[in-house]
Amino acid sequence: MIDCGDGVARQLVSAGVPLTVLRHIFITHQHSDHNADYGNLLLLAWAAGLSTRVDTWGPSPLEKMTKLFFEMNAYDIETRISNEGRVPLAPLIHVHEIRDGGGVMSDDNVKVTSALVDHPPVVPAFGYRFDAHDRSIVISGDTAPSDNLIRLARGADVLVHSVMYPPAIDRLVARVPNAAALKESILAHQTSAEEAGRIAQTAGVKTLVLSHLVPADDPQVTEQLWMEAAQSHFRGKVILGKDLLEI
Ligand SMILES: [Zn+2]
Repeated sequence: MIDCGDGVARQLVSAGVPLTVLRHIFITHQHSDHNADYGNLLLLAWAAGLSTRVDTWGPSPLEKMTKLFFEMNAYDIETRISNEGRVPLAPLIHVHEIRDGGGVMSDDNVKVTSALVDHPPVVPAFGYRFDAHDRSIVISGDTAPSDNLIRLARGADVLVHSVMYPPAIDRLVARVPNAAALKESILAHQTSAEEAGRIAQTAGVKTLVLSHLVPADDPQVTEQLWMEAAQSHFRGKVILGKDLLEI
């Protein structure tokens, strides 16, 4: 599982993945749309019958978040252990804080590598690359255009890149009272769909998946506009990300 935004446990089940097979969680950075359901995923998977090891990987304070989450939910966890005969949850979860880019883990199925990406003021923020026997997939996390990410993505089959559509940012922030600060933040730490296409072309990936759309809910920013922006510099295949999409 890469990142744990709102509803991630439900989405996994909707995607046909039983929660009990959860094995690794990779968090790109500590923003709520990427970590809000990190603890809930662990707890709900365990309540659904998970009884095997889970390793979690991501930036600090992942250890503290995990520990405090178990503390906050101690009543439920202890009740289910004594009343329902479940195995203790905390010893199943092995937390690994990542500080720099490089090798993360590998097993018989996959080798995982990270790169520091550019998401001020959230430091560190990571992109991840997954090399399996038959495919390679790179997830950008949230980032401004990043040379580290281009290096990480070189030659990958699929690059999933977060994107924004700059002409619509003014309309997006006009809906909130903190418009000026929000606009400045978005423009500093996201990548336009056009730029994501340039990055995909430079990295030589086969398929670019546009994800984490900013804005995601502006009817004036049509599927066609997203696709045209990404395709203006990229000659590979472009896919517009949607919930539960399988590629
Ligand atoms: Zn973020």
